[in-house]
Amino acid sequence: ICQNPFPVGPAVRHQTRLVNVAWGSTVVPIGSSAPIVVQSMTNTDTADHIATAIQVKELALAGSEMVRITVNTPEAAQAVPAIREQLDKMGVLVPLVGDFHYNGHKLLTQYPECAQALSKYRINPGNMGGGKKRDDNFAQMIEVACKYEKPVRIGVNWGSLDHELMARMMDENNAKPEPWDAQSLMREALVVSAISNAQRAEQLGMPGDAIILSCKVSHVQDLISVYRNLAGRCNYPLHLGLTEAGMGSKGIVASTAALAVLMQEGIGDTIRISLTPEPGGDRCKEVVVAQEILQSLGLRAFTPMVVACPGCGRTSSTVFQELADSIQSYLRDQMPVWKTRYPGVENMNVAVMGCVVNGPGESRHADIGISLPGTGEVPSAPVFIDGERTVTLKGDNIAAEFHEIVRNYVER
Ligand code: SF4
Repeated sequence: ICQNPFPVGPAVRHQTRLVNVAWGSTVVPIGSSAPIVVQSMTNTDTADHIATAIQVKELALAGSEMVRITVNTPEAAQAVPAIREQLDKMGVLVPLVGDFHYNGHKLLTQYPECAQALSKYRINPGNMGGGKKRDDNFAQMIEVACKYEKPVRIGVNWGSLDHELMARMMDENNAKPEPWDAQSLMREALVVSAISNAQRAEQLGMPGDAIILSCKVSHVQDLISVYRNLAGRCNYPLHLGLTEAGMGSKGIVASTAALAVLMQEGIGDTIRISLTPEPGGDRCKEVVVAQEILQSLGLRAFTPMVVACPGCGRTSSTVFQELADSIQSYLRDQMPVWKTRYPGVENMNVAVMGCVVNGPGESRHADIGISLPGTGEVPSAPVFIDGERTVTLKGDNIAAEFHEIVRNYVER
């Protein structure tokens, strides 16, 4: 029996319920077979409703399909309706998610307009107090969510794991003939905390199709292990993210490594890439990285892919690097208009190659490609469209002429 030894693509998606997160005419489905959702979070002071509305708009325009804002004080809770109003006036109907810790039960009950303006509440069961107080606070938040028909994410984080649960599990573990190691017990506690709180929310009247779970940790192997286990034990949609991923390339690489493994196994329904911003850095970068991870895995498409070789001693001067950089920026800049006019344009592949070694071949595989000649030669670059060699661009204006050819191709 001959079987194809080269299967391509992720495993069958882990089957979950479908949760809708909505605002106005915008409905973002999460879970089941819905596309994996990209989300992000602001880092402005929520009480500053102007600054927060501006950043939410920037993140939404960059492609964030939901935006989370921290709601940590009465001033922040009071600002939420104003942020929503500003966004609505600008036509930005992205759902807002309220991130609550410690005092969420008070803020949601004391500021009903805040509760209504949010589209989803993030609840961290690890920092709601202890004992009966914890149970009451959790119940209050679920009651508000039910009243306003808002979904919730029960978001457990190992930096704020429920101390009572952990202590109880440690006692039980120590009584076993072969106790687990501390790290394994911590992973189990995360999963138990998420699932048991989701079950409690359902007992309190929350519909099962209004609950999303997350169990965030800051190490790649822990995250993979925890989510594999979580996915095997429940059918709530799962929010993936490596918490405290770090700065720059470290944060991007660690997040990609963890999330790619899980999504390749069909696990994960919405993602956030938590990058520590560099001073003056662009908050929207985390949205771009999330989109690029999904697109690299072939799970979604957002912007035409640019295949560019790394360049080497054969590349001539800086023409090649400038061309690769300019075409990537050009495509990204055009997308807000192109995606409304030319459905499917995001699936296009563009190749920008540095020399004749792999240039013509790679350019032929792309929808449209250009191959520079390499070192020591006058810039003269053949363009390939749908696998066929067409014009050859020469001189100092190659980048602008290639942009024009790409634009014409898209319009055709
Ligand atoms: Fe170097 Fe040419 Fe390969 Fe690019 S295509 S990496 S320039 S050999």
